[in-house]
Amino acid sequence: MEIVHCEGCGVPLQSEDKRKAGFLPKSAWDNEQVICQRCFRLKHYNEVQDVEYTDDDYLRMIHQISDTNSLVVKIVDIFDFNGSFISGLQRLTGNNPIILIGNKVDLLPKSTNRNKLIHWMKKTASDYGLKVQDVFLISAAKGNGFEEVEQAIEEMRQEKDVYVVGCTNVGKSTFINQLINRSSGVTDAITTSYFPGTTLGFIQIPLDDKSSLFDTPGVVNRSQMVHYVTDKDLKLITPKKEIKPKVYQLQDKQTLFFGGFARFDFEKGMKQSFVCYFSNQLMIHRTKLEQADAFYEKHVGELLQPPSKETLEKLPALTKQTVKIGHEKTDIVIPGLGWITVPEGGVTITIHVPKGIQISIRSALI
Ligand code: GDP
Repeated sequence: MEIVHCEGCGVPLQSEDKRKAGFLPKSAWDNEQVICQRCFRLKHYNEVQDVEYTDDDYLRMIHQISDTNSLVVKIVDIFDFNGSFISGLQRLTGNNPIILIGNKVDLLPKSTNRNKLIHWMKKTASDYGLKVQDVFLISAAKGNGFEEVEQAIEEMRQEKDVYVVGCTNVGKSTFINQLINRSSGVTDAITTSYFPGTTLGFIQIPLDDKSSLFDTPGVVNRSQMVHYVTDKDLKLITPKKEIKPKVYQLQDKQTLFFGGFARFDFEKGMKQSFVCYFSNQLMIHRTKLEQADAFYEKHVGELLQPPSKETLEKLPALTKQTVKIGHEKTDIVIPGLGWITVPEGGVTITIHVPKGIQISIRSALI
């Protein structure tokens, strides 16, 4: 069969899978202008929709940025920083300057120390080998922090093009939709255009006569929790509004379960009050460490849920890692779920998380 390309973004068109790139409903093939659903939505509703690509397609596409002279805006989800970090981005984008944006800041308790969070993001990015020019915190959904970001983009791009990159689910579409709404307000201002052989799936949004902002497809990072859970469970583990911390005073040899997704064993140290920052809908259960294995075996998928039975079928088994925390207030971060603050430190903790999920340790944000 002949391959037909979208006249908007150049991606090959298909009618099989709504969530994949280039989807065009069968009924629309005879239209005068054949554009994929993603371009259609942008054109008519001023709305960017994310689609999935295979990892190889994605890497090939992003690698095209290294041949451009542009500014790269990379978006991460601050609740899933490690999970939503695209490693190797520096190589893929060449020498172009990068700014890093942490999204979903509306979910953080008001008492969060933003400077510390920014500092941690800079440091973690640098540990991943990514050099960033600046870091910003925003809420794409609420529109917070946009003035600063827009100003920084204008100053740093110096009339060059802008490429927005990010993993799926970080809020990239919400971010771009917000930018479009703020800058245009007019539907007609948005056009998409096709550059044969070069853009393949990048959506172009003109910034001025000479330059554009390009939305790139979201990369799927297999180590993100979001890929192992059903939509229903994802709703439960994703905080919807500002997180309310829950405090647990624990002795050593006690365990906390976060639903059945993660487990926190207080192995050694002085009694203290651990503060848990998770979705308000994720139930936390306390048990004795010596009974924790049996408790999990017996109750996972039932009392310990989410995960539902359906999620459990695809969720990797829990693996454990023991960490020693020095004498300072520290956060243990479980990407995609939340974090636990160890208020006084001086403890040994074993964390159990699904295999592939990388926990991290940082100086406490609150
Ligand atoms: P994309 O896959 O990166 O394009 O992400 P989307 O824009 O589709 O957003 C993914 C999910 O995150 C959706 O459920 C959004 O409602 C949610 N989301 C996006 N931005 C924010 C934000 O600033 N705050 C909160 N709380 N949720 C957000």
